Amino acid sequence: MQYNNLIDGQWVATQSGKTFQSVNPADPSDSLGEFPASGEADVERAVQAADRALPAWSRTPAPVRAEILFNIGQELKRRKQDLGRLMTREMGKVLKEALGDTQEAIDMSIYLAGEGRRLLGHTTPSELPHKMNYAIRRPIGRLALITPWNFPLAIPAWKIMPTLVAGNTLVWKPSSDTPRMAYELSKICSEQGLPPGVFNLVFGSGSSVGVPLASHPKIDMISFTGSAETGRAIYQMGAQKLNKVHLELGGKNPIVVLEDGDLELALEGIIWSAFGTTGQRCTACSRLIIEDGVYDQLLDKLAEATQKLRLGDGLQPETDVGPVVNRAALEKIAHYVELGKQEGAKLLTGGEVASEGELAKGFFYRPTLFVEVKPEMTIWREEIFGPVLSIIKARDFDEAIRLANDTHYGLSSSIYTQDINKAMRAVDRLEAGMTYINSGTIGAEVHLPFGGIKDTGNGGREAGIAAIDEYSEWKTIYIDYSGKLQKAQGID
Ligand code: NAP
Repeated sequence: MQYNNLIDGQWVATQSGKTFQSVNPADPSDSLGEFPASGEADVERAVQAADRALPAWSRTPAPVRAEILFNIGQELKRRKQDLGRLMTREMGKVLKEALGDTQEAIDMSIYLAGEGRRLLGHTTPSELPHKMNYAIRRPIGRLALITPWNFPLAIPAWKIMPTLVAGNTLVWKPSSDTPRMAYELSKICSEQGLPPGVFNLVFGSGSSVGVPLASHPKIDMISFTGSAETGRAIYQMGAQKLNKVHLELGGKNPIVVLEDGDLELALEGIIWSAFGTTGQRCTACSRLIIEDGVYDQLLDKLAEATQKLRLGDGLQPETDVGPVVNRAALEKIAHYVELGKQEGAKLLTGGEVASEGELAKGFFYRPTLFVEVKPEMTIWREEIFGPVLSIIKARDFDEAIRLANDTHYGLSSSIYTQDINKAMRAVDRLEAGMTYINSGTIGAEVHLPFGGIKDTGNGGREAGIAAIDEYSEWKTIYIDYSGKLQKAQGID
């Protein structure tokens, strides 16, 4: 089936006439549809539509805008099962995780619908008599939203819902690996009463759609989630126009297991964090630091549990780990594993493409553990974005924290310990936007801020109340009812 862009409330073909396919990474002969390979002319139409729709939408009362979000959430809920199955087919994550991704989009829609009746500002006393001061939230304008493939509903929902409730209009460029999920979400949104032009969707690659969109002079803010490399390029495009740029980038997230940690609990958390979504989460655990006294014991358990993981099509109930997203990802993972071996790390298990039986059709990589890893090795430093876990032994708590912080990323982090003093000291010292105690590195909830420090971003946060700060502007109002000129700062 052929799908189109959504521009000004209409499903329209690309002006280029070119298309691309979306395929199932477990079996690329299974097509999810044909999508427009759009270009600059389509971006232009979409941005102009967002521009035209802005005045009326920004004046629509926020509770009215919010009701549309609520209805989007209800429709997503109604369709949760079929959206989950489509997601597994399109990008490979196992069905229970795809349903979780869908649930996150539902939660975000409903949570931010509630914000329509808050969008809280400030009222404060004035330093002068007969004067009132307050600050309110205003829309930013026309937003460009650019998203990755690994959370095809949740991440777009993190951006779309606050954009809309705050009164902005948007043009969304989804990843070329998950266009079908973008179509489904956009269709649901467009059928809940959004005026034409408020929500526009343009399919196509980063170079042909992402670049003209991010650099378009009428775009007021760019919200991007993806790799640090692309994020840097987008930051520069935004800087040229003095745009607000929201960046959510990569991670190299550590789990620390101390000698007094509950090892069975840690084992479950490590497996879930390292190999859930086949290691393709920004919050995936890719570095494990084990304190000396429990190193051998935990390693044995980990090797055994990793070898037991069943690879396969994520729609099969017995599958633990699905395919990686495409052939390029498979090749990139294999490249990093070779580098790990060349630089002297030792493979404990995995380290190869899985191609027996049905797996030969798709892009499967065996869950991989590396030991004897040194902090200077590439596999310890760079984001692999696949099922590869590098493990280092630490002498004590201080060395474990130092190793955990030895990365230019700072998204998620975790520590397993029964010692409350050590747990709380880790909260203070771990350099990351999120720290989990006695749980893995994944499992964010929508009503809390999400994001990272260092090269994981530029200081913004998705989700929670923080999202409203990102997607709105402050406006401060001073009302002087004294009937005379009063000067602030005590000027006579
Ligand atoms: P990516 O290659 O950076 O692509 C992300 C999006 O940007 C895609 O839609 C891509 O389009 C587009 N794009 C690529 N080059 C562009 C350019 N020059 N200008 C404008 N847009 C451009 O990342 P990905 O492989 O999709 O996603 C994986 C990365 O995302 C990982 O690094 C992961 O850690 C990160 N991530 C971060 C978070 C977070 O919240 N911190 C969450 C999830 C993922 P096409 O691919 O269609 O060409």
